[in-house]
Amino acid sequence: GAKAAGRNQYEFFVPDMNARAFERLMLENALRRGIERNELVLHYQPQIEARSGQVNGCEALVRWNHPDLGLVPPLQFIPVAEDSGLIGPLGEWVLREACRQQAQWQNSSMSELRMAINISALQFLKPDFVDTVKRALADTGANPQRIELEITESALMQPGTALTGRLLQLRDMGLTLALDDFGTGYSCLAYLKRLPIRRLKIDHSFVRDLPGDQEDAAVTSATLSLARDLGLEVVAEGVETVEQRDYLLARGCHSLQGFMYSRPLTIADFEAWTEARRQPA
Ligand code: C2E
Ligand code: MG
Ligand code: MG
Ligand code: MG
Repeated sequence: GAKAAGRNQYEFFVPDMNARAFERLMLENALRRGIERNELVLHYQPQIEARSGQVNGCEALVRWNHPDLGLVPPLQFIPVAEDSGLIGPLGEWVLREACRQQAQWQNSSMSELRMAINISALQFLKPDFVDTVKRALADTGANPQRIELEITESALMQPGTALTGRLLQLRDMGLTLALDDFGTGYSCLAYLKRLPIRRLKIDHSFVRDLPGDQEDAAVTSATLSLARDLGLEVVAEGVETVEQRDYLLARGCHSLQGFMYSRPLTIADFEAWTEARRQPA
């Protein structure tokens, strides 16, 4: 109540709403304004082909450049966006911005790079999702062959033909589909065979304690051998050490992503980093 007003002034004005709920509402309103005012920005984290050490793509990761708070990480506002319906406009902004960037690379040395885009399950399950993607590609001129959509297992939990049809449509448009955070949900392995998924992303929680942690090592090598048998590519995220890289490389992991190579970078830094890495040593 009033006693806490110094710290939490709003408590004084809305006594029957708890502070957390109000904070959430403030955040939601600020996010809505932030999207309108173009405060979102994408950073790009390199993905490295494990064998050659060459950059073969990047993952676009959204940040909110708040005028007072500075760069807000996605885990602080994506859940709010998902609860409030803002994930629609936010997700569409991300999709279009990443496509716009890929289109801009088309006649440059960056044209071969794959652009991976995170798609929230709620966004994916919207009936007009495929149309939204089509429009983003058409309006920006992005090359669908270079666009990868990262979806999570929760987006696949609704079994049925509508879902399969949607994945097939996206695949037929030339897009690649990747399963993000693989292993953290209730994977139904049968899906992997049946659905047009091209890549698995091993979640960083499994990579963190490699190679020492026996359970993580077991999950990781099982995923890699399953992927090989099913003809899927694997990207490992959260690669921070040479030991992790060597473990993954030895078991046939195709691509690596993590702080060992680079943190997510602004577009200018990503382009410079990629160029510099191409120079012969
Ligand atoms: P994610 O898609 O699994 O992305 C990987 C996260 O791991 C990123 O965090 C990245 O910065 C972080 N990471 C990369 N390498 C390392 C490493 O070596 N060590 C550690 N400790 N972390 C590493 P970020 O950017 O904070 O994003 C967090 C999550 O927020 C993402 O997880 C994704 O689920 C979500 N997200 C980010 N951007 C978007 C977006 O545009 N749309 C949607 N729907 N979700 C997004
Ligand atoms: Mg991702
Ligand atoms: Mg992930
Ligand atoms: Mg994750």
